[in-house]
Amino acid sequence: SALLEVQGLEAVVSEASKTILRGLDLTVRAGEVHAIMGPNGSGKSTLSKILARHPAYEVVGGSALLEGEDLIAMEPVEAARAGVFLAFQYPVELPGVGNSDFLRIMVNEKRKAEGLPELDPLEFLGMATRKCEVVQMDTAFLSRNVNEGFSGGEKKRNEILQMAMLEPKLAILDETDSGLDIDALRTISDGVNSLRREDNAFIVITHYQRLLDYVKPDFVHVMDNGRIVKTGGPDLALELEETGYVTAST
Ligand code: ADP
Ligand code: MG
Ligand code: MG
Repeated sequence: SALLEVQGLEAVVSEASKTILRGLDLTVRAGEVHAIMGPNGSGKSTLSKILARHPAYEVVGGSALLEGEDLIAMEPVEAARAGVFLAFQYPVELPGVGNSDFLRIMVNEKRKAEGLPELDPLEFLGMATRKCEVVQMDTAFLSRNVNEGFSGGEKKRNEILQMAMLEPKLAILDETDSGLDIDALRTISDGVNSLRREDNAFIVITHYQRLLDYVKPDFVHVMDNGRIVKTGGPDLALELEETGYVTAST
């Protein structure tokens, strides 16, 4: 079965009872990278938050299965334990919380859920150091507070580090590339590429074709008005850059 199977997903913002997703279909198999593009307000962030089980959105139709399990029935923490990771568009700062402590808690939470013993601080440090190497990050990141005083680029790098530590099955990056200079973009892309495996998958939401020069997607989707209206290969992103979204959805 697919890693993620979304069928006819319909969702509203609970607070405003406003319909946002209107019958969205998406199939993601292990080993694949999917890019989602589309105009502002088309529901891209809503889709990613729903998959991470954000409580503000209510699913009123359709289904989403993660390895055959009902993802919509899961609480956010259950979805995270099941292997869904969402890198936020605007990462939160946690002043006073050490990055290393934060990562260790996250990793040990996951290990506990998998029936594995917790890592002691020394084992954790070994793992964290290796992961920093994999994603080419300075280990100095570990001893700082979570995102406190981080530049935009550093916050994004830190998200990649979190992702590397948690080894999610399904990683969703929601405009992780926004506002990045070319060096930071390369770091993010190299990080993602180094984490690609046959048993995981990525959904990369982006406005820019340039990210897709570095992270080669297997599929490119265009979202409009709460649905995926067009699907193609990497060439679709190039086409969109030339023609814009209007032509793409007609
Ligand atoms: P995108 O990420 O494609 O720009 P979003 O998923 O952020 O789109 O938003 C889709 C639509 O849903 C927009 O019209 C947005 O204003 C609306 N929306 C999203 N979240 C909320 C919310 N919490 N309350 C009210 N409207 C929302
Ligand atoms: Mg937006
Ligand atoms: Mg968005």
